[in-house]
Amino acid sequence: MKNYKACKNCHLLTKEDACPNCSLPTAKRWTGYIIIRDPARSQIAKKMNITKAGTYALKVM
Ligand SMILES: [Zn+2]
Repeated sequence: MKNYKACKNCHLLTKEDACPNCSLPTAKRWTGYIIIRDPARSQIAKKMNITKAGTYALKVM
């Protein structure tokens, strides 16, 4: 997950400078990540308000 950046809003990990979900700037500093394959059936996805499958940072600085 090197060179990936995390969205400060939805925590999505991306290589882009802006989040493809919410068009907000992404941060280089984040820790831990989780792969959400089925947001509807994931407790963590619900907790983090994730509605789209993808890779998400657990914590964004
Ligand atoms: Zn986002």
